[in-house]
Amino acid sequence: AKRRGRNTWQTFTPALARKLTDRLLIETQLRRALDNQEFYLHYQPQVDLRTGRIHGAEALLRWKSRILGELNPDLFIPHAETTGDIVPIGAWVIQEACRQLRAWRDAGLAIDRIAVNVSFRQFLSDNLPETVLSALNQYKLPGEALEIEITERVLIEDAPDTLANFNTLKGLGVALVIDDFGEGYSALNYLRKFPFSGVKISHTFMQGVPFNASDSAICQAMIQIAKSVGLAVIAEGVEHEVQRAFLIKHGTVLGQGFLFSQAVSPREFAELVRQQRST
Ligand code: C2E
Ligand code: CA
Ligand code: CA
Repeated sequence: AKRRGRNTWQTFTPALARKLTDRLLIETQLRRALDNQEFYLHYQPQVDLRTGRIHGAEALLRWKSRILGELNPDLFIPHAETTGDIVPIGAWVIQEACRQLRAWRDAGLAIDRIAVNVSFRQFLSDNLPETVLSALNQYKLPGEALEIEITERVLIEDAPDTLANFNTLKGLGVALVIDDFGEGYSALNYLRKFPFSGVKISHTFMQGVPFNASDSAICQAMIQIAKSVGLAVIAEGVEHEVQRAFLIKHGTVLGQGFLFSQAVSPREFAELVRQQRST
């Protein structure tokens, strides 16, 4: 057993060491990325499922590191949350999304709303309503132009002024949506406690729709729960026409996913909006 233990340890070491150096490397580079202007945003259309009309977009963070190359957000955002770097990075995301929306509107594009992802860490250590308000003011946008996507982790961490911050944001007209709805562990009573305007059904459930019976049943139940308490529903990860049909049948209005478009550059997004205007 001892030898097996040592062997296991020996084979495990290089991978563990690599993980540690990866972590250090990512965290060191992350610290400089904002100053080096290595971040940019891509936009994934959010469409009316029935008509295909683009209603808005979700802003998704991209990082092109000089040292590490292109990194997927799933790879670096957890590190940025650990170090706290996500706080200034997240503030930049809000600022940049507002700047972009202003530019699009000035160019005559009718885009109702941009959704941004906000980490639980931003609720813990940032005056989020102030960050949001100053970005809205700077770009002369109403609060209704912005939607904030948060995961249930925000509610689990339970910062003392979470509810007050939510109410302030709601007072500005900003929409609050629970991202990855159904993936968390908290009880459903937070739907009543916090002033949410909608839920976003996770793509992990959408994958099994409509052929996996339990995924489909869960999706259907989540849509029903949300609607019964007056919340809007948006579905993510819509990849197939049958999924779109399923969602429409069960009363979901908005969706996003590869069926419509992946996340694209600002230029490409503007082109998508222009194309639909001319049809
Ligand atoms: P998310 O908020 O759940 O974003 C949806 C992810 O699913 C995006 O990956 C998107 O490109 C991908 N996706 C879109 N359509 C489809 C589809 O039809 N099928 C499948 N399988 N996937 C689809 P991405 O851009 O790699 O982002 C990954 C995660 O990183 C996001 O998940 C979000 O949690 C986080 N993230 C991205 N940008 C930000 C940000 O600015 N701030 C924070 N805090 N987190 C962010
Ligand atoms: Ca999201
Ligand atoms: Ca999601």
